[in-house]
Amino acid sequence: MTNTLSINNSSQTGIIHSVESCGTVDGPGIRFVIFTQGCPLRCLYCHNPDCRHFEDGKIVTVDELITEIDKYRAYFESSGGGVTITGGEPLMQPDFVKAIFQNCKKINIHTTLDTSGYVNLNIAKPILEYTDLVLLDIKSFDPNIYHKLTSVSLEPTLIFARYLAQINKPTWIRFVLVPNLTDPENNVRGLAQFIAPFKNIEKVEILPFHKMGEYKWEQLGYDYQLKDTQPPSPQLMNQVINIFKSYGLKVQ
Ligand code: SF4
Repeated sequence: MTNTLSINNSSQTGIIHSVESCGTVDGPGIRFVIFTQGCPLRCLYCHNPDCRHFEDGKIVTVDELITEIDKYRAYFESSGGGVTITGGEPLMQPDFVKAIFQNCKKINIHTTLDTSGYVNLNIAKPILEYTDLVLLDIKSFDPNIYHKLTSVSLEPTLIFARYLAQINKPTWIRFVLVPNLTDPENNVRGLAQFIAPFKNIEKVEILPFHKMGEYKWEQLGYDYQLKDTQPPSPQLMNQVINIFKSYGLKVQ
């Protein structure tokens, strides 16, 4: 069969960890999910610690990925899905991400970017032109907790969030609830207060901390500091959900 796709920047390469052809948790509908390699954060609960370093990933071309993505168009169309780029931190490879999204938009595929927002805003801006939805992980609102959790500073993420509001980019906020770490009421309330005025926030996803990635930390010889931390109780989840709802935010 003749390939009728005309792909821009087809030889542009990127470094990825893996792809998932029918993901259902990273954006609406059925999604082709690309996990990019490389991340400047060191989240204590990271379930993809094997995504940290570029040298552990594999090199792919935009051409290869778009050709693969194109096979799933019928699923995207019937489910309201599309393509999600997550990581790692996708914005470490801005030209690659932009090329993929640009090609997706050319063939009318919905694009979602999952990011920590820890990036120079000017690098991210051209990508956002081809991004339909942003999943913005705001891991904590208290800068000290944020730093303790991620080893980097919170400020770039807040700048990114304000810019998304300014350009009215549809955004879902993601917040991982970790008992004894991200759960102080003033932390949760601070985040809710910060995002509540932004009209572009479609919903907030509160993700309960889990230890499913712990075995990877062990395999890689990293010290998993949250060994003794338990997932949040249903009661704590409800408290946090209710705080966000009390600011008029839609919570999932
Ligand atoms: S931003 Fe994501 S990939 Fe990077 S360390 Fe944090 S949880 Fe892991």
